[in-house]
Amino acid sequence: MRIVVLPGDGIGPEITAVTVAAVEAASKKFNLGITLDHDLTGLEGYKRHGKTVTPELVKKVEGADGLILGPTDTYIYKGEGQVNPSMFFRKHLDLFANIRPARTYPGVPTRVNAFDLVVVRENTEGFYADRNMASGGSEMLVTPDVVVSLRRITRECCERIARAGFELAQRRRKKVTLVHKANVLKIGDGMFLEVSRAVGKEFPEVAIDEYIVDAMMAHVVRAPEKFDVIVTTNMFGDILSDLTAELSGSIGLGGSVNAGFKHAMAQAAHGSAPDIAGRDIANPFSLILSAALLLDWHGRRKSLPAFNQAARAIEEATVAAVAAHEATGDIDGKLGTRATGEAFAKRILAA
Ligand code: NAD
Repeated sequence: MRIVVLPGDGIGPEITAVTVAAVEAASKKFNLGITLDHDLTGLEGYKRHGKTVTPELVKKVEGADGLILGPTDTYIYKGEGQVNPSMFFRKHLDLFANIRPARTYPGVPTRVNAFDLVVVRENTEGFYADRNMASGGSEMLVTPDVVVSLRRITRECCERIARAGFELAQRRRKKVTLVHKANVLKIGDGMFLEVSRAVGKEFPEVAIDEYIVDAMMAHVVRAPEKFDVIVTTNMFGDILSDLTAELSGSIGLGGSVNAGFKHAMAQAAHGSAPDIAGRDIANPFSLILSAALLLDWHGRRKSLPAFNQAARAIEEATVAAVAAHEATGDIDGKLGTRATGEAFAKRILAA
């Protein structure tokens, strides 16, 4: 498996270095033969190449089996006419399913009951101005005082995200929750519901329930243990998954993979956290768990069970490391980012 590694901005380089060590350890332990191709994007890419994403980088990523992208900053390229790498690769590689698991961990204090759920978020349309149009954005300044923001919802994207959710639920506790705002966005979210229910009929063992997005925020805080797989549109999934990551103990535990039919990108659920960058306190497990999801995706796609085994081993080692407080302070750990990574790589090799 060939993976392109792009460290990103802010805390990106710190947590990416640790993730690379974890992937190398897993590759060695499970004989995966992973090769890592290191390159630059974000501010460093811009400084080096005059562009955040060069055509050469795009070609390299298109030819690879996967991508690990450290968190990138959305604001620092403003005025430079540069693309945001995260948004660019999601759209360009058609990474329609943003899979964001969240669970509680023994040893990490939380405000809620123990839970284990996955947010499955549509990633290629919706209220994201960069994703809806073949050319141009879907947010427009009509006059200096009037803005129109458009949301695109298509039957095709509803269908494929629903299917991704039901397939996942089939391998888990067999329950899908559809989250929507069809009481207000009657046509768009109405179609999301209609298509998702129809896909659900192909999975008779999977139970379905439905919540309006605002009420869902209360339900998930009150009793997150009720949920298994939550399928929703882009913006709702983005917001909900930060909440579920934080409910698990820290947003720094928020792993995520952006998956399409041909490509996938491991990317933490959070941003570049400039407030803690360079201080060796960022939690690297978000990106480590994202990399595990990428290995799992590759194993399923290519029918290579060793990759699925490695992904499971990384998840189990994360649970053990967190319980042993071999982790960062945000989750009651006693180590810095680098030391967390060193202890984790040893743990994987010893597993
Ligand atoms: P953020 O997610 O970077 O940070 C929110 C809070 O969580 C901060 O207090 C931060 O210190 C903390 N945090 C985040 N990751 C952590 C980790 N691994 N360990 C411990 N604490 C962690 O959100 P923000 O500060 O609003 O955004 C910073 C930049 O990131 C912005 O430019 C934003 O647009 C961008 N962003 C990018 C993505 C993405 O590419 N997927 C997602 C969110 C934000």
